Amino acid sequence: MKHPVSTVCSSSRVFVFAIVTTLAITGSVQAQDLPVTDTHLHYSHDAWTVYPPAEAIALLRKAKIKRAFVSSSSDDGTQMLLKEAPDLVVPVLRPYSRRGQISTWMDDPASLELLTSRLAKNRYAGIGEFHAFGDDIKKDVLRGVLALAKKYDVFLHAHSDAAAVELIFEQYPEARVLWAHSGFENVETIRDMLSRHPMLWADLAFRSEHINGEEADPQWRDLFMEFPDRFMVGTDTFAPERWAYVTAHARTSRTWLASLPEELEEKIAWRNAEVLLSRYLEK
Ligand SMILES: [Zn+2]
Repeated sequence: MKHPVSTVCSSSRVFVFAIVTTLAITGSVQAQDLPVTDTHLHYSHDAWTVYPPAEAIALLRKAKIKRAFVSSSSDDGTQMLLKEAPDLVVPVLRPYSRRGQISTWMDDPASLELLTSRLAKNRYAGIGEFHAFGDDIKKDVLRGVLALAKKYDVFLHAHSDAAAVELIFEQYPEARVLWAHSGFENVETIRDMLSRHPMLWADLAFRSEHINGEEADPQWRDLFMEFPDRFMVGTDTFAPERWAYVTAHARTSRTWLASLPEELEEKIAWRNAEVLLSRYLEK
C-alpha cells in the first residue's frame, strides 16, 4: 500500500511537471510562431534551377517568413520571386548582372546603367546589397547610386566598412542605410556608428557572435537594448546551397530572440524592417 504522503508528493510532482512541460511547449510554440522578416536574401542566376521560383517561395512560406528582402545577380531573379509572391517579396535592386562583380562593379558604368533602367521600369524598396569600402563611395558610379537612391527615395543595403558608411552619410545626409552584416564590425564600432547615425539600421546576416547557445550574447544584448529599433535578421543566400539554411536560420532566430524582452524580440524579428519599409509600403 502506498504511503499517503508519497502519493501526494508524487502526484504534486506530476502536476508541477505538467505545468512546466505545458509552459515549455507553449513558450516554444509561441517563439516558433514569431513572424520573422528575412532582410538578406539573394536569388542569383545559379540558384534558379536548383530552387525554381515556386520552390524558393514554398521554402520561405514553410519557414514562416513574413517578408523577404530579395536582391539578385541579375535582378531577373528578384522579379521572378516577386511575381510568384508579391505579398512576401520585397524587391531590392542589385547593381550586378551576374556573379563575380563584387569588386569591379564600382568602376563599370554599366552598373549604373543597369540601376537607372531598372528603377525606371520597376518599383523597389532599396538599392543593394552592394559592396563598397572606404573611398569607393567617392567614385562616380557610387555617386550615381546615391543620386538614384535620393531620386527614388529608396534605402541603401550596403556591404561596407564603417568608413564607407560615414562617407555615404557625408554625401547624402538623408540616406536610409541598411548596413549588411553590421559591417562585420565589433560591438563597439557598431554602437558608435548607430549612436551617430539615426538613419542607420544593421542586419545580422551571416554572423553568429550575437548568439550564445540559445540566447543573445550579453554584450550584444546590451547593444540591442540600447538600440532596439535598429537591428534585423537575415540569412544571406549568397550561393544556391545557402537556400537550404533559410528554415534553420528562421528557427535559430526565433530561439535566440526569445531570450530578449518581448517588445525587443518582435522589433528585431520584423517590426524594425516594417519601419525601414514604411515609405515603400505606403506608396
Ligand atoms: Zn549578401
